[in-house]
Amino acid sequence: MITLAAAKRPAAVAADQLLMPLWADVTEVHPEVENLTTLWLRFKDPKLQKEYSFEPGQFNMLYLPGYGEAAISICSDKEQRDTIGHTVRFVGNVTRAVSRLKKGDVVGLRGPFGTHWPIENLEGNDIILAAGGIGLPPLRPVIYHILRNRAKYGKVTLLYGARTPADLLYTSQFEEWRKGDIDVKITVDRADETWKGQVGVVSMLFYNFRLDQAKTAVMTCGPEIMMRFVVYEALARRVPTDKIFVSLERNMKCGQGSCGHCQLGPFFVCKDGPVFPYPRVERLMKAREA
Ligand SMILES: Cc1cc2nc3c(=O)[nH]c(=O)nc-3n(C[C@H](O)[C@H](O)[C@H](O)COP(=O)(O)OP(=O)(O)OC[C@H]3O[C@@H](n4cnc5c(N)ncnc54)[C@H](O)[C@@H]3O)c2cc1C
Repeated sequence: MITLAAAKRPAAVAADQLLMPLWADVTEVHPEVENLTTLWLRFKDPKLQKEYSFEPGQFNMLYLPGYGEAAISICSDKEQRDTIGHTVRFVGNVTRAVSRLKKGDVVGLRGPFGTHWPIENLEGNDIILAAGGIGLPPLRPVIYHILRNRAKYGKVTLLYGARTPADLLYTSQFEEWRKGDIDVKITVDRADETWKGQVGVVSMLFYNFRLDQAKTAVMTCGPEIMMRFVVYEALARRVPTDKIFVSLERNMKCGQGSCGHCQLGPFFVCKDGPVFPYPRVERLMKAREA
C-alpha cells in the first residue's frame, strides 16, 4: 500500500504557533471566472516566505480580520517560492470578503495543513487526475510537479469538468499543459453556442481512452458525488484501490486536529486528510449523508 508522508510544516513556524495567523500581502488578484479569483500572497516576513514550503494537495487557513477563517487549498507551484496562490470561490462570509480584496491588502495565513498527494511515491505510474469545478486548484500543484519531472511518469491524463464552459478554470494554461505531454480532456455539464467539446459528467471521460490497470494511479478532487463515480469507473477498469486517492472537504476550524469540527468517522479531515488513500475512507464515502 502506498502511504502518505507526514505533512510538511514551514520550517519558520513552530508547531505550537500554528493557531496564530501570520500576515501576508496580497500581491495580485487574478479573477478567473465569475465568482472565483486567484489570490497571490507573500508573507510580510521575507525569512518566513523563503522558508515556507508545502506539498501539492495541502491547504492554508486564510484569515480575514472581522470575518473569520476559511480552508483554501494551495494552487501554486511548490517550486515558485516567492508567492503562494489560492483560488477562491465566493460562497459565504469569509470568501465574499475575499472578493473585495485588492493588491496591497493584508490577510492572515496559517498552514500549510493536511496530507498531500503522494506524487513522489507514484513515479513510474501512468497518472489520471480527475477534477470537478473547484477541485482543480488542489490538483494544479501536481500538474506543475509532473511538468517539471515529466520523464518520471508514464502517460498523464487530466479529466476536468465544470458546469458550463464559462466555469472552466485555468483555460489559458491548457495548451501549455498539453505541450508538456499531459492529455487534457475537458467536459461541461451544459454547453453553450460556442462549445464544440464533450458534454457530460467527468466520469464519462473514462470512456474516451484506455488505461493500463497494472500501472495507473488516480487522484481525484471535486464534489463527492463526482469522486464516487470517478472511483467507480477506475475500479471497473481494475485500477488497484490502493492507487486511488481522494481529497475530501469538511467544514473545519483549527486545521490541526484539535477542535473536532471536521471529524469524519475516526478521522479529522484537516489532519488525517484532506487527501486519503481510497481504502481508508471507502466505507465513509459510501455512507448516506445525514
Ligand atoms: C481542505 C479544504 C480545502 C478547500 N479548498 C478550497 C479552495 O481551494 N477554494 C475554495 O474556494 N474553497 C475551498 N474550500 C472550501 C472553503 O473552505 C469553504 O467554502 C468555506 O466554508 C468558505 O467559507 P465562508 O466563510 O466564505 O463560507 P461559510 O460561511 O462557511 O458558508 C456560507 C454558505 O456557503 C455554503 N458553502 C460553504 N462551502 C461551500 C462549498 N464549498 N460549496 C457550496 N456551498 C458552500 C455553506 O453551506 C453556507 O450555506 C476548501 C475546504 C477544505 C476543507
